[in-house]
Amino acid sequence: MKKIFSGVQPSGIPTIGNYVGALKQFVDLQDDHDAIYCIMNQHAITVPQDPESLRENTRRLAALYLALGVDPHQSTIFVQGDVAAHAKAGWLVQCLIPLGELERMTQFKDKSAKKQSVMSGLLTYPTLMVADIILYHADLVPVGDDQKQHMELTRNFVDRFNKRFASKDQPILTKPEHLTPKSGGRIMSLQDPSQKMSKSDDNQKAFISLLDEPKKAAKKIKSAVTDSSGVISYDPEEKPGVSNLLDIYSAFSNRSIDDLVSEYEGSGYGAFKGDLAEVMADFLSPMQARYYDLLESDELEDILREGAKKAEVIANQTLAEMEDAMGLRY
Ligand code: ATP
Ligand code: MG
Repeated sequence: MKKIFSGVQPSGIPTIGNYVGALKQFVDLQDDHDAIYCIMNQHAITVPQDPESLRENTRRLAALYLALGVDPHQSTIFVQGDVAAHAKAGWLVQCLIPLGELERMTQFKDKSAKKQSVMSGLLTYPTLMVADIILYHADLVPVGDDQKQHMELTRNFVDRFNKRFASKDQPILTKPEHLTPKSGGRIMSLQDPSQKMSKSDDNQKAFISLLDEPKKAAKKIKSAVTDSSGVISYDPEEKPGVSNLLDIYSAFSNRSIDDLVSEYEGSGYGAFKGDLAEVMADFLSPMQARYYDLLESDELEDILREGAKKAEVIANQTLAEMEDAMGLRY
């Protein structure tokens, strides 16, 4: 079975963008893959976090994974900081990736733009991400389009590491593939469809959180920026707002964009947005009910503890092989 690794940062409550780009795949892939899903709390601290909120958001994210349908009997679920091998392997990767490669990363440029002070961890973030992936010999990494550059960095790193430290017929690290959904790999902000939807956006109307009440989500859909043509068609260049809503609609209804475009031919944005709000509510309501039950239960801690134990065994093995190859064991 192919191995899957992915995760989300507890830097806020996941948005429908995180769901479409990543979390939906977590659930779909677990049946016929060996899946490991992580809560990336060490990545979250690359930008300032309030300790209490980080703690809470970590538990919330774990409960959300489960409420969305990630099954702890099938998949391993754990918190990044609980497995020390991530930070250790991250250091090794950091010592092998040229500074220039990190400075070129657009996520770093975006996140550091207009900030008065930027911590070094924001720059070296991708080295920790490389470590996360290689530790589990992941074949496939389901993440959104915004992670394309980081995935390329990971693939290049694996080639270079194996070439330098492993023998040709026995590579140490596995080269992963980037897996994105056919459409919706980059869900855009509802207020500015030239920007990606992000859970850490200051403008609450720009994103729908997976914990927004359906009524609130409906309001956000209704106030989503579109255009004045009144025509529902898919054209991300000319009609980014409407196309984004079509991507969202398609993901939540499991219907093709073509199918939706023909259904809404001749109808206005009002009816289209109203129907999308209903589809969204049908998804959010039962999922949120499961979420609130899980958050109250003791189950969560047990699942995360068990998950970390399982992850640690695999991660420590890979780390030991890396350290050995690099001459760090004597
Ligand atoms: P932050 O602003 O804190 O970075 P984020 O919304 O980008 O938050 P991450 O935790 O960085 O969330 O990403 C989690 C997963 O969601 C990744 O796989 C990422 O590629 C994916 N993702 C993030 N934003 C989007 C989006 N707008 N559309 C589709 N996928 C997305
Ligand atoms: Mg992000």
